[in-house]
Amino acid sequence: MKVLITGGAGFLGSHLTDAFLARGDEVTILDVIGDLKIRQHLGNPRFQYVRESVFNTEILDGLVMRADLVYHMAAVVGVEHYVADPYEVLNVNINGTQNVLKAAYKHNRKVVMASTSEVYGRNPKIPFSEDDARVLGSTRVDRWCYSTSKAAAEHFCFAYHRLGLPVVVVRYFNVYGPRLDKLDVGRVITVFMGQVLRGDPVTVIGDGKQTRCFTYVEDAIRATVAAGLDPRAVGGLFNIGNDREFSILELAETMIRAAGSSSRITFVKQENVYGESYEDVPRRVPALARMHEILGVRAETSLEDGLRPTIEWFRAGNGR
Ligand code: UDP
Repeated sequence: MKVLITGGAGFLGSHLTDAFLARGDEVTILDVIGDLKIRQHLGNPRFQYVRESVFNTEILDGLVMRADLVYHMAAVVGVEHYVADPYEVLNVNINGTQNVLKAAYKHNRKVVMASTSEVYGRNPKIPFSEDDARVLGSTRVDRWCYSTSKAAAEHFCFAYHRLGLPVVVVRYFNVYGPRLDKLDVGRVITVFMGQVLRGDPVTVIGDGKQTRCFTYVEDAIRATVAAGLDPRAVGGLFNIGNDREFSILELAETMIRAAGSSSRITFVKQENVYGESYEDVPRRVPALARMHEILGVRAETSLEDGLRPTIEWFRAGNGR
């Protein structure tokens, strides 16, 4: 099978590339970044790397035409972007998705779109089921532009599905593992990682009681592959995650222990990290019945077990 992965040089995209190549499929990735995450596959005759953007609609059209299955993973992700460059987040995540869907519709190719648990915002109903409401803040708060951009992209997916396009939408819950961003930037795991590896204070924002469910990348990828291959997934919306809930304080303690680090924990104000234009989500937990029953996948990797290879990868000098 020929698989096209937009954003294939990114964190999730590169692991998805590994999974499809391991199955014996052909993988083409379309990505603007020339990252080392897919370097191991250069020279593999079943792998092709096109360094282009989803805004180059001519190239995109040709690649979609030649694919059997399209994964749309290209997006602007990471809190630092929501706050620094909301235009880019909205443009890439909404208009870029529209370009992919247009090309897929023209050639009738199935699309799996990577969305996010951010879509639920700070809905107080825990756990979040796929059809639950979105609870977001004001449009004057930049943090919500990512959530909004992905929700608009999801609406586009379901609108195209009404027109007959086979689509699947998956929402990831705080996925981590080797190749996650760079040390000190991006998500909480990479920020804490830089701190614990250097023995610096670990910056827990607020009282650290806010929670997340951390999903090891291999578990997330098994569910993502199933979302593309299982015909029962078409037209569906799936949470992809692990439902073991950790407070951010527990995460800090677990990472310090797992890395054998001398770091201490320091409590900081969120304005000092992200500025004023930021609102945190107090709890985020997925309901996983659909992932278990339709995709047939369970996220079984514990935080300790997932952190081990992640720490090793960063300790080996990667992600700098
Ligand atoms: N966080 C923290 N210290 C940091 C960075 C993040 O305590 O240095 C917290 C942040 O306030 C949030 C959680 O970690 O509650 C997860 O943040 P992340 O940026 O990974 O993304 P989110 O899950 O909010 O999308």
